Amino acid sequence: MTMSRRSLVAANWKMNGTLHGIRKLTADLRAGINDGGRAEVAICAPFPYLAEMQHALNGSAIALGAQNVSEHESGAYTGEVSAAMLLDYNCAFAIVGHSERRALYGETDAVVTRKFVRAVTSGLTPILCVGESLAERESGQTQDVVARQLDAVIAGAGIGAFAKAVLAYEPVWAIGTGRTASPEQAQEVHAFIRLRLARHDEGVADRLRVLYGGSVKAANAGALFGMADIDGGLVGGASLDGAEFISICRAVR
Ligand code: PEP
Repeated sequence: MTMSRRSLVAANWKMNGTLHGIRKLTADLRAGINDGGRAEVAICAPFPYLAEMQHALNGSAIALGAQNVSEHESGAYTGEVSAAMLLDYNCAFAIVGHSERRALYGETDAVVTRKFVRAVTSGLTPILCVGESLAERESGQTQDVVARQLDAVIAGAGIGAFAKAVLAYEPVWAIGTGRTASPEQAQEVHAFIRLRLARHDEGVADRLRVLYGGSVKAANAGALFGMADIDGGLVGGASLDGAEFISICRAVR
């Protein structure tokens, strides 16, 4: 059974930009992505710019997202940002479990699972990131690592929650390195992810959008997005260049 899935291309701006630069980039993207097109497009912006972006994107074909969300509903969690706050600014998406959060801020599978659940139950669509490090790939552990990251969230959130989520396979060795997984390498893991989910619910697995992330650029996007189980991309560095990101969005089948 194969469903048709509308591709999603999501920008992850990370901790880059200034208000001035963000205004220009947003205006450029808004002008270049105006038809809704073949892919849904989202920008995951830094928290302080969400209010500005909400207005700048109002009535456009581009959705807004955040790069993180608190696992807690509200309360004494200094420095955290809740799902309700993100919804106040019309965020549709929140990245959860990005490898930089896992590696630099100690986010465990348990924390990632709680954030995923918080996002889904609040009405945000989590973009759940999974992926192996270079050492894990080279020692043949890619599937074990991805399975562990995925199984933790399935166990904690339930397979039904994935009907309201997006997944991103992001091999850590390809993020920000200029080294991209080949379309075949990525497809192999995407197919593995879908099969893993299908063990619990074939329909959910079939409908789930699984993005590829890791040094996506205009030059490689078409080949990656052409693979059967790759439903778009999560784009870091290349999303900071308006023309490049627009070309990536247009590379969707
Ligand atoms: C990312 O940060 O999710 C990412 C994929 O970054 P880059 O495209 O720069 O590798």
